[in-house]
Amino acid sequence: MADRKKEKTLVLIKPDGVQRGLIGEIIKRYERTGLKLVALKMVVPTDEMVEKHYLIDPQWKIKAGQKSIESYKKKGLQPPSNNPEEIGERVLNSLKKYLASGPVIAMVFEGINAVGIVRKITGSTEPLSSDVGTIRGDFTIDSYEVADVDNRAVRNLIHASGSSEEAEKEINIWFQPEEIINYRLINESILYDVNLDGILE
Ligand code: ATP
Ligand code: MG
Repeated sequence: MADRKKEKTLVLIKPDGVQRGLIGEIIKRYERTGLKLVALKMVVPTDEMVEKHYLIDPQWKIKAGQKSIESYKKKGLQPPSNNPEEIGERVLNSLKKYLASGPVIAMVFEGINAVGIVRKITGSTEPLSSDVGTIRGDFTIDSYEVADVDNRAVRNLIHASGSSEEAEKEINIWFQPEEIINYRLINESILYDVNLDGILE
Protein backbone atom coordinates (compact mmCIF):
# COMPACT_ATOMS: atom_id res chain seq x y z
CA MET A 1 0.00 0.00 0.00
CA ALA A 2 2.84 2.40 0.80
CA ASP A 3 3.53 2.96 -2.89
CA ARG A 4 -0.07 3.64 -3.83
CA LYS A 5 -0.19 6.57 -1.40
CA LYS A 6 2.69 8.05 -3.39
CA GLU A 7 1.02 7.81 -6.80
CA LYS A 8 1.79 11.04 -8.64
CA THR A 9 0.16 12.88 -11.51
CA LEU A 10 1.15 15.94 -13.53
CA VAL A 11 -1.36 18.75 -13.98
CA LEU A 12 -0.76 21.72 -16.26
CA ILE A 13 -3.03 24.75 -16.19
CA LYS A 14 -2.69 25.76 -19.83
CA PRO A 15 -2.36 29.42 -20.94
CA ASP A 16 -6.14 29.85 -21.32
CA GLY A 17 -6.65 28.79 -17.69
CA VAL A 18 -4.08 31.31 -16.48
CA GLN A 19 -5.52 34.10 -18.67
CA ARG A 20 -9.07 33.35 -17.56
CA GLY A 21 -8.10 33.86 -13.91
CA LEU A 22 -8.91 30.27 -13.03
CA ILE A 23 -5.66 29.23 -11.30
CA GLY A 24 -7.14 29.37 -7.81
CA GLU A 25 -10.44 27.74 -8.78
CA ILE A 26 -8.67 24.87 -10.53
CA ILE A 27 -6.18 24.20 -7.74
CA LYS A 28 -9.03 24.30 -5.21
CA ARG A 29 -10.92 21.55 -7.01
CA TYR A 30 -7.95 19.17 -6.90
CA GLU A 31 -6.72 20.20 -3.47
CA ARG A 32 -10.04 19.66 -1.71
CA THR A 33 -10.14 15.98 -2.77
CA GLY A 34 -7.39 15.27 -0.25
CA LEU A 35 -4.67 14.81 -2.84
CA LYS A 36 -1.41 16.45 -1.79
CA LEU A 37 0.24 19.18 -3.86
CA VAL A 38 3.94 18.23 -3.89
CA ALA A 39 5.31 20.56 -6.61
CA LEU A 40 4.17 23.81 -8.19
CA LYS A 41 5.63 26.41 -10.55
CA MET A 42 4.85 28.89 -13.31
CA VAL A 43 6.71 28.34 -16.58
CA VAL A 44 6.57 29.42 -20.22
CA PRO A 45 7.03 26.16 -22.12
CA THR A 46 9.24 25.89 -25.20
CA ASP A 47 8.15 24.10 -28.39
CA GLU A 48 10.67 21.37 -27.54
CA MET A 49 9.11 20.77 -24.12
CA VAL A 50 5.65 20.49 -25.66
CA GLU A 51 6.82 18.06 -28.32
CA LYS A 52 8.70 15.94 -25.79
CA HIS A 53 5.70 15.93 -23.48
CA TYR A 54 3.19 14.66 -26.03
CA LEU A 55 5.50 12.24 -27.82
CA ILE A 56 6.29 10.32 -24.59
CA ASP A 57 3.55 7.99 -25.85
CA PRO A 58 4.66 6.92 -29.35
CA GLN A 59 1.01 6.21 -30.21
CA TRP A 60 -0.16 9.67 -29.14
CA LYS A 61 -0.62 11.16 -32.64
CA ILE A 62 -2.77 8.25 -33.77
CA LYS A 63 -4.80 8.16 -30.54
CA ALA A 64 -5.48 11.91 -30.53
CA GLY A 65 -6.48 11.71 -34.22
CA GLN A 66 -8.80 8.75 -33.58
CA LYS A 67 -10.47 10.47 -30.64
CA SER A 68 -11.18 13.51 -32.77
CA ILE A 69 -12.55 11.44 -35.70
CA GLU A 70 -14.85 9.48 -33.35
CA SER A 71 -16.17 12.68 -31.83
CA TYR A 72 -17.06 14.06 -35.27
CA LYS A 73 -18.83 10.82 -36.25
CA LYS A 74 -20.77 10.67 -32.98
CA LYS A 75 -22.22 14.09 -33.75
CA GLY A 76 -23.03 13.03 -37.34
CA LEU A 77 -20.34 15.35 -38.72
CA GLN A 78 -17.64 14.74 -41.33
CA PRO A 79 -14.08 14.80 -39.83
CA PRO A 80 -11.55 17.07 -41.60
CA SER A 81 -9.52 13.95 -42.45
CA ASN A 82 -9.96 10.21 -42.00
CA ASN A 83 -6.26 9.68 -41.34
CA PRO A 84 -5.68 9.80 -37.55
CA GLU A 85 -1.93 10.32 -37.90
CA GLU A 86 -2.43 13.31 -40.17
CA ILE A 87 -4.81 14.88 -37.64
CA GLY A 88 -2.38 14.05 -34.81
CA GLU A 89 0.49 15.78 -36.63
CA ARG A 90 -1.60 18.89 -37.11
CA VAL A 91 -2.72 18.85 -33.48
CA LEU A 92 0.89 18.62 -32.26
CA ASN A 93 1.83 21.73 -34.22
CA SER A 94 -1.13 23.67 -32.91
CA LEU A 95 -0.38 22.49 -29.36
CA LYS A 96 3.08 24.04 -29.58
CA LYS A 97 1.54 27.42 -30.46
CA TYR A 98 -1.08 27.07 -27.73
CA LEU A 99 1.10 25.98 -24.83
CA ALA A 100 4.09 28.19 -25.65
CA SER A 101 1.86 31.28 -25.96
CA GLY A 102 2.25 32.28 -22.31
CA PRO A 103 2.78 31.08 -18.76
CA VAL A 104 1.34 27.77 -17.60
CA ILE A 105 1.11 26.42 -14.06
CA ALA A 106 2.78 23.02 -13.64
CA MET A 107 1.84 20.95 -10.61
CA VAL A 108 2.30 17.48 -9.19
CA PHE A 109 -0.45 15.97 -7.04
CA GLU A 110 0.21 12.88 -4.94
CA GLY A 111 -2.00 10.32 -3.21
CA ILE A 112 -4.07 7.18 -3.69
CA ASN A 113 -5.56 7.03 -7.20
CA ALA A 114 -4.07 10.45 -8.01
CA VAL A 115 -4.17 9.87 -11.78
CA GLY A 116 -7.77 8.65 -11.91
CA ILE A 117 -9.18 11.17 -9.45
CA VAL A 118 -7.55 14.10 -11.27
CA ARG A 119 -8.81 12.91 -14.66
CA LYS A 120 -12.35 12.49 -13.33
CA ILE A 121 -12.42 16.05 -11.99
CA THR A 122 -10.79 17.40 -15.16
CA GLY A 123 -13.36 15.93 -17.58
CA SER A 124 -12.95 14.64 -21.12
CA THR A 125 -10.82 16.38 -23.76
CA GLU A 126 -13.52 18.28 -25.66
CA PRO A 127 -15.27 20.90 -23.49
CA LEU A 128 -18.48 20.59 -25.56
CA SER A 129 -18.77 16.97 -24.42
CA SER A 130 -17.11 17.14 -20.98
CA ASP A 131 -19.51 16.31 -18.15
CA VAL A 132 -21.17 19.02 -16.09
CA GLY A 133 -19.31 19.37 -12.80
CA THR A 134 -15.89 18.76 -14.34
CA ILE A 135 -13.46 21.65 -14.77
CA ARG A 136 -13.54 21.48 -18.57
CA GLY A 137 -17.34 21.08 -18.53
CA ASP A 138 -17.96 23.95 -16.13
CA PHE A 139 -15.46 26.59 -17.18
CA THR A 140 -15.05 26.60 -20.93
CA ILE A 141 -16.84 26.15 -24.26
CA ASP A 142 -14.54 24.88 -27.05
CA SER A 143 -15.09 21.98 -29.48
CA TYR A 144 -13.04 19.99 -31.99
CA GLU A 145 -15.09 21.44 -34.82
CA VAL A 146 -14.55 25.09 -33.95
CA ALA A 147 -10.85 24.51 -33.21
CA ASP A 148 -10.32 22.65 -36.49
CA VAL A 149 -12.00 25.35 -38.59
CA ASP A 150 -9.50 27.85 -37.16
CA ASN A 151 -6.64 25.33 -37.32
CA ARG A 152 -5.80 25.67 -33.64
CA ALA A 153 -5.68 23.46 -30.56
CA VAL A 154 -8.80 22.76 -28.51
CA ARG A 155 -8.58 25.16 -25.56
CA ASN A 156 -9.53 23.02 -22.61
CA LEU A 157 -7.71 24.70 -19.69
CA ILE A 158 -5.81 21.66 -18.40
CA HIS A 159 -3.51 18.77 -19.10
CA ALA A 160 -3.62 15.79 -16.75
CA SER A 161 -1.50 12.62 -17.03
CA GLY A 162 -3.20 9.57 -18.50
CA SER A 163 -1.47 6.90 -16.39
CA SER A 164 0.97 6.61 -13.57
CA GLU A 165 3.79 5.52 -15.95
CA GLU A 166 3.07 8.48 -18.22
CA ALA A 167 2.99 10.78 -15.19
CA GLU A 168 6.48 9.72 -14.14
CA LYS A 169 7.91 10.54 -17.56
CA GLU A 170 5.98 13.80 -17.86
CA ILE A 171 7.03 14.99 -14.39
CA ASN A 172 10.64 14.52 -15.51
CA ILE A 173 10.12 17.01 -18.32
CA TRP A 174 8.61 19.73 -16.13
CA PHE A 175 10.43 19.31 -12.79
CA GLN A 176 13.86 18.62 -11.36
CA PRO A 177 13.76 15.81 -8.75
CA GLU A 178 14.56 18.26 -5.92
CA GLU A 179 11.48 20.35 -6.81
CA ILE A 180 9.18 17.52 -5.71
CA ILE A 181 8.72 17.95 -1.95
CA ASN A 182 8.38 14.99 0.40
CA TYR A 183 6.24 16.05 3.36
CA ARG A 184 3.36 14.98 5.53
CA LEU A 185 -0.12 16.54 5.70
CA ILE A 186 -2.29 16.27 8.79
CA ASN A 187 -5.29 15.12 6.76
CA GLU A 188 -3.42 12.03 5.54
CA SER A 189 -4.30 10.22 8.77
CA ILE A 190 -8.04 10.56 8.16
CA LEU A 191 -7.60 9.43 4.55
CA TYR A 192 -5.23 6.55 5.12
CA ASP A 193 -4.97 5.40 8.78
CA VAL A 194 -6.40 1.92 9.30
CA ASN A 195 -7.62 2.37 12.89
CA LEU A 196 -8.43 6.09 13.25
CA ASP A 197 -7.29 5.84 16.86
CA GLY A 198 -5.79 9.33 17.15
CA ILE A 199 -9.01 11.36 17.25
CA LEU A 200 -10.63 10.94 20.69
CA GLU A 201 -8.75 12.16 23.75
P1 ATP B 1 -4.54 16.42 -22.20
O1 ATP B 1 -3.56 15.31 -22.52
O2 ATP B 1 -4.14 17.77 -22.69
O3 ATP B 1 -5.05 16.39 -20.80
P2 ATP B 1 -6.32 14.73 -23.42
O4 ATP B 1 -5.45 13.65 -22.99
O5 ATP B 1 -7.74 14.76 -22.98
O6 ATP B 1 -5.83 16.09 -23.02
P3 ATP B 1 -5.26 14.37 -26.09
O7 ATP B 1 -6.08 13.63 -27.07
O8 ATP B 1 -4.06 13.75 -25.47
O9 ATP B 1 -6.27 14.93 -24.99
O10 ATP B 1 -4.85 15.72 -26.81
C1 ATP B 1 -3.99 16.63 -26.16
C2 ATP B 1 -4.50 18.05 -26.34
O11 ATP B 1 -4.47 18.40 -27.73
C3 ATP B 1 -5.95 18.27 -25.94
O12 ATP B 1 -6.07 18.52 -24.57
C4 ATP B 1 -6.34 19.46 -26.78
O13 ATP B 1 -5.86 20.68 -26.22
C5 ATP B 1 -5.58 19.22 -28.07
N1 ATP B 1 -6.32 18.47 -29.11
C6 ATP B 1 -6.55 17.14 -29.14
N2 ATP B 1 -7.19 16.77 -30.25
C7 ATP B 1 -7.38 17.90 -30.98
C8 ATP B 1 -7.98 18.19 -32.24
N3 ATP B 1 -8.51 17.25 -32.99
N4 ATP B 1 -7.98 19.47 -32.68
C9 ATP B 1 -7.42 20.43 -31.94
N5 ATP B 1 -6.83 20.23 -30.73
C10 ATP B 1 -6.81 18.99 -30.25
MG1 MG C 1 -3.37 13.14 -23.19
